[in-house]
Amino acid sequence: MTAPQAINATPGGNRVAVLLPLPLASAYTYRVPAELPVKAGDFVAVPLGRRTLFGVVWGPADDSVEESRLKPILQVLDVPGLPESLRRFVDWVAAYTLSPPGAVLRMSMSVPDAFDPPARRSAWVASGQAPEKLTAARNRVLAVAADGLPRVTSDLAHEAGVSTGVVKGLVAAGSLREVLLPPAPPYRTPDHNHPGPTLSPAQAEAARQLAASVNTGEFGVSLLEGVTGSGKTEVYFEAMAAALASGKQALVLLPEIALTAQWLDRFEARFGTRPAEWHSELRPSQRRQAWRAVATGEAKVVVGARSALFLPYPQLGLIVIDEEHDASFKQEEGVIYNARDMAVVRAKLAGCTVILSSATPALETLVNAEQGRYVRVHLPDRHAGAEMPSIEAIDLRVDPPPARRFLSPRLVAAIRDTVAAGEQAMLFLNRRGYAPLTLCGACGHRLQCPHCTAWLVEHRFHNRLQCHHCGFTTQVPPTCPQCGAEGRFKPCGPGVERLAEEVLQDFPDIRLAVMASDTVGGPRAAAEFVRRVNAHEIDLLIGTQIVAKGFHFPLLTLVGVVDADLGLTGGDLRAAERTHQLLTQVAGRAGRAQHPGRVLLQTWMPEHPVVHALTHHDPAAFLAAETEGRRQAAMPPFGRLAALILAGPNEKHVIDAARALGRAAPVGEGVVVLGPAPAPMALLRGQHRQRLLVKAPRSANVQAYLRGWLARVPVPNDVRLTVDIDPYSFL
Ligand code: ADP
Ligand code: ZN
Repeated sequence: MTAPQAINATPGGNRVAVLLPLPLASAYTYRVPAELPVKAGDFVAVPLGRRTLFGVVWGPADDSVEESRLKPILQVLDVPGLPESLRRFVDWVAAYTLSPPGAVLRMSMSVPDAFDPPARRSAWVASGQAPEKLTAARNRVLAVAADGLPRVTSDLAHEAGVSTGVVKGLVAAGSLREVLLPPAPPYRTPDHNHPGPTLSPAQAEAARQLAASVNTGEFGVSLLEGVTGSGKTEVYFEAMAAALASGKQALVLLPEIALTAQWLDRFEARFGTRPAEWHSELRPSQRRQAWRAVATGEAKVVVGARSALFLPYPQLGLIVIDEEHDASFKQEEGVIYNARDMAVVRAKLAGCTVILSSATPALETLVNAEQGRYVRVHLPDRHAGAEMPSIEAIDLRVDPPPARRFLSPRLVAAIRDTVAAGEQAMLFLNRRGYAPLTLCGACGHRLQCPHCTAWLVEHRFHNRLQCHHCGFTTQVPPTCPQCGAEGRFKPCGPGVERLAEEVLQDFPDIRLAVMASDTVGGPRAAAEFVRRVNAHEIDLLIGTQIVAKGFHFPLLTLVGVVDADLGLTGGDLRAAERTHQLLTQVAGRAGRAQHPGRVLLQTWMPEHPVVHALTHHDPAAFLAAETEGRRQAAMPPFGRLAALILAGPNEKHVIDAARALGRAAPVGEGVVVLGPAPAPMALLRGQHRQRLLVKAPRSANVQAYLRGWLARVPVPNDVRLTVDIDPYSFL
């Protein structure tokens, strides 16, 4: 990396370009006062209209703005500047995703008060004195403070869902009393010499290769591939140790924050301390502390969600993407990007190593490995001789469940045997709630979300119907809105809650727990859940995809997949690949310790290639066929895709805009534009949606093509155009 240079003496005068964390087309030009030398990357305060905003000095400015119209930089903030490699990354992501650079920068600055000087740590507790004026917002603050725990201003405001002004008002009114907190404990440096487990020869060899890659201090991508339970985590820990040993920082991205707790325990066992965490559950003060510790280099290891990729590491030495195939690395809102792919770019710009870890790598990743762009590091077996589970299909045509039930007698018998043997079982069904569909028994009317093209899902625990797309909730109506029949609504199909009910009919005394994103939300709830399972307070787990990922339960020996066919249908490019990955992950939960595991897949299609690959432990043939199919169709990774989604409240405007866009599509060599057509989710959160899909050869510059195209066609104000490069969702 080149040393940052003072740039306010560059030709063109004392002016610089400052990028603001706003969705603006480009950086703005500001005057540099003589007494405030700045260099590229500095965080600065600048005026914009009547506001003062924080931004980053992006580089020299041209002289397109008249001297007299320039406003001055007000202040250079006392935090380390944004490293050059991160600035280049922001520009790269913006260009690749066709996003405004400021919208990307915002992800690097997502900490409102990170730039305030570290003040003394005042916290507040209720004083017992009621304010003269009691508003709803003030009431909420006092309700939060009622537990007597001291909280800093930003956390108190955050928990009460109010602005910090409300808290300050209550302080002024004497209703909150100050308590001084001790300074936040610094992040301790993880000890790379702390003794970890003794690695098997195969693990040690894999660890050696990965550490060697880190030690080159250069860009490189390794694919760490090994069945579930082969010890991939322990192995990439050694690569992290190598980064730490050379004073570098390491970043680990996990696909699911619920997994963080178990991961943190293992990290602590290996390195003797906890790393910094970065995810949506952090309180504002924790977020601020983590951000600053990353920026100063005090936090050596960060574990977190995809947005951790945009933190300002001054010395990044390693990025690990755990479960790299996972679709949740794709951010679908705001700046639409795939954190796995962007991690590779980030590492390239920073000159560091990436490890992509998975038992079921994405097809794109496998092709990259086959073509020699990624180094393949393989772990052949499960650790300590633990055997892979046996996987059998239950052919539902032969062994169907009894009427109005969803579990085949074979699966019920297996649950009985497992629990009787003092072991644990798990049922997997990727459907939250009680029933995915509720319909009228008289006329067949289906209860739909008024704002989305989606059925309402019954949640019996909460006694509600809920839309899983927009959060709309309502009660089951007493009469059918279509035919007026009374009390005739009936649930169709199973969700996890309904399975729980069925199991309890057969096993009234079984200790069961339902694990779904709405029952086990953040890392704390997940940690408690894991504790209960490991303490054998639970015999049977019923879970959605959240249980498929990464958990390690030693006593779990039976996994029943309730509907192996779910997800195989539909027009999604990756439907089969994803189902294969998901079911392999789920199956991998069985028999991870001394006890051999058993997996039963309920299916109507036992000969489907995905089911066949699983029951024959032969992913290779399936993957080869999938890869060949993609090659023939010139689909990713052999071709490029980009989706254009138009959405707005007025259906006609959206359709007209989509047609105008479609008509204006330029001719590009080998480029095919499909659509416009109504999106499968033609209505989402009250927005009508149309899609176009651009298919291009791998050699094409899709961004240039799109830029030329989109610049020509104005989109009306009430229609929003979203560009999704490398789409994962086709809804
Ligand atoms: P994977 O990530 O490949 O599924 P893990 O790293 O989670 O595998 O390892 C599976 C289990 O085996 C974990 O409980 C882990 O602690 C244990 N394990 C793996 N390697 C070793 C080792 N060398 N010594 C002791 N325990 C190990
Ligand atoms: Zn909805």
